[in-house]
Amino acid sequence: AKRAGGNTYALFESHMNAGAARQLALQSDLRHARARGQLSLHYQPKFDGERSQIRGVEALMRWKHPDHGNVPPNVFIPMAERFGLIKELGDWVIDEACRQMRAWDEQGMRMRVAINLSVHQLRQEDLVDRVQSALGRHEIEASRLLCEITESIAMEDIEVTQRAFEGLRRIGVFLSIDDFGTGYSSLSYLRKLPAQQLKIDRSFIQDLETSRDARAIVDAVVKLAHALDLKVVAEGVETEGQRDILLALQCDELQGYLFARPMPASDLLDWASGHNP
Ligand code: C2E
Ligand code: CA
Ligand code: CA
Ligand code: CA
Repeated sequence: AKRAGGNTYALFESHMNAGAARQLALQSDLRHARARGQLSLHYQPKFDGERSQIRGVEALMRWKHPDHGNVPPNVFIPMAERFGLIKELGDWVIDEACRQMRAWDEQGMRMRVAINLSVHQLRQEDLVDRVQSALGRHEIEASRLLCEITESIAMEDIEVTQRAFEGLRRIGVFLSIDDFGTGYSSLSYLRKLPAQQLKIDRSFIQDLETSRDARAIVDAVVKLAHALDLKVVAEGVETEGQRDILLALQCDELQGYLFARPMPASDLLDWASGHNP
């Protein structure tokens, strides 16, 4: 092993290069992904507390690369943000989510859809116009669209977020603060944002059964949210134990693998007919 010292470095270096080269190739492929029809949205249902009804779905972007298969959003979204592609992808998501809502309407399934917004989209001067024109194009009421913005991003530049939120709210879109608990929001910032929903980060949900602290935090977040007239959603619910605790703590909506994984639009219709009598 000692003798391999020099080789180890070479190996490490070649790994680094492979990584960088792959990144570069992926980045250039991402530029064409939309035009080549490699992007899609998967939809993950959210349930009300009793799990008896679907409250809506969250749209999650998928990229099926011809050679590498599915590239996770945690890889390609930051890449798109770095290379100036996120606005184009984000616009596509807005339009596609509205188009899909209309398609489901025509199949007799009235769904509300949540989309995820990047900070780069919040900074877009014409974000509100783009959302409004997508809604108009597909004849969707604004109140059926929910925009999720990650807490840490929302609080990075509170003025940008506030302006975007107010614009979106003015046209009737609903707003959710995602991954709540992972950022460092001060409560006064929270009050400044016209949001309707807080989504508690999965890390707290994961620890609910084993950590009294996690439970205390979730309890406090639910009470805070309700005091501010916000609905609370728990993401990443995987066990019945977690579900039971969340119900006992009065969490309004639940989402996670325990109920359903994100799925293609075509599957959701079948799936929902089995779950929404
Ligand atoms: P997110 O918005 O927090 O979405 C939740 C993520 O958790 C999704 O991962 C979802 O598939 C996963 N998840 C849901 N339930 C469970 C569960 O019970 N257990 C576990 N372990 N995971 C669960 P996904 O689809 O890989 O997306 C990752 C992140 O990528 C999203 O986190 C979001 O920040 C970002 N993203 C996805 N689609 C978009 C998009 O269209 N636009 C933007 N800007 N970001 C997106
Ligand atoms: Ca989200
Ligand atoms: Ca989330
Ligand atoms: Ca999360």
